[in-house]
Amino acid sequence: MPSDPGADPGAAPLPTAARDEASRRLLTAEILAVGTEITAGETRDTNSAEIARWLTDEGVTVVRMTALPDRFDQVRAGFAAALERADLVVSTGGLGPTPDDLTREAIAACWGERPAVDPALERWLRGLWARRGVPFPEMNVKQAWLIPSATALSNDHGTAPGWWVDRPDGRIAVALPGPPREMRPMWSERVVGRLRERGLGRATVVRTYRLAGIGESQVADMLGEELLRIPNPEVATYARADAVDVRISAVAEEDDDGRPGRSAEELVDETEARVLAELGPYVWGRGTETWADAIGRRLGHLGWTLATSETNTGGTLVTLLGAARWLRLAESIALDVDAATDETALRASARSVRERGRSDVGLAVVVGAAGRDTAVHVAVAGPGGVHVEEHLAFLGGQQGRSRAALLAAAVLLARLRSEAQDEDLATPR
Ligand code: AMP
Ligand code: MG
Repeated sequence: MPSDPGADPGAAPLPTAARDEASRRLLTAEILAVGTEITAGETRDTNSAEIARWLTDEGVTVVRMTALPDRFDQVRAGFAAALERADLVVSTGGLGPTPDDLTREAIAACWGERPAVDPALERWLRGLWARRGVPFPEMNVKQAWLIPSATALSNDHGTAPGWWVDRPDGRIAVALPGPPREMRPMWSERVVGRLRERGLGRATVVRTYRLAGIGESQVADMLGEELLRIPNPEVATYARADAVDVRISAVAEEDDDGRPGRSAEELVDETEARVLAELGPYVWGRGTETWADAIGRRLGHLGWTLATSETNTGGTLVTLLGAARWLRLAESIALDVDAATDETALRASARSVRERGRSDVGLAVVVGAAGRDTAVHVAVAGPGGVHVEEHLAFLGGQQGRSRAALLAAAVLLARLRSEAQDEDLATPR
């Protein structure tokens, strides 16, 4: 080994594998759902979705999710392939005591190690049965197995300890039990902190804008393919029941030698300006804000209260707004096919509910069939007068009624915004 006379003789260079381990950040992950009940469609794989969400929130890119039957060869091959591609592999299931629970055996084979009973785990396991005065089923002893590369993740909610398994190259596999009530606390109490210490994900800045009055494809069109294809910052659109969401996320730039470039914040700011220049007028909320939150925010700013009257909506408006302190009266006229939809009647209805609710704003909505779609008549009565609008909601039936409530909420919000005349509120950050 070449010697460096200036170096501290105690500070021997790390062997290559250990150096890799120290420097490998966990940036990519794969998730394996083990269990024939999943590949047979009897159990829904909720574990993988939850873990994917947690990892994404930590700034980790989940590159693949796989469901595998309880077959030794398949599970072993699943781990081997996932560890080729990702820094971190998280599995759930297959940690039970029965012969078809094979995750431990598969990991051991994949690592080329032999499982052995860990005395401390065995004492703990036998103690669980002794506590209840029940004989220990010897089949369960495999839940006390470990391999040299694995440490146990204790399970306070069941009999299956999880495994944390290190690879010399710094990759990690984590095996969690299948039952969600055991999997969740093990992840949050035993795993995520330890992963963070090892260097989990990249610091990510995320901003989400909630849009109304525009479809997802129109949003995509206005943003342009070029913007939507940039990997960092990433701009994604999601069509949800109550909004089209535009999500901007970025990680800090780094050159190939790890020198920092622009911060994630700067990157998001820059893209946000482009997005809002195109779509600002359609934005009604941000993050996880609901319609009730957004309307409540403006009403709160004005110190106002609201009363609503909806006809033929099946109560979709009050369902959307929910129980809120600022909602003084919410009436739903279940079925009135002859409801008057002329402007005079609508104005009167909005004024009437405003008075009866003793509130600052009265909102009246009347819907009716319009061919295969839904006609939506909206009137907003405020201190300054009554405003009336008419819209067409896509489709009829329950879908049309739900969209009618969204349209009415959007009309109301626009009125409140123009009253508040508050730039900061109008374009939430
Ligand atoms: P295990 O004994 O660890 O294989 O898991 C036992 C039970 O956990 C199964 O019978 C399911 O009810 C549940 N389970 C296993 N995998 C999942 C999954 N991916 N998502 C939701 N529940 C699961
Ligand atoms: Mg199983």
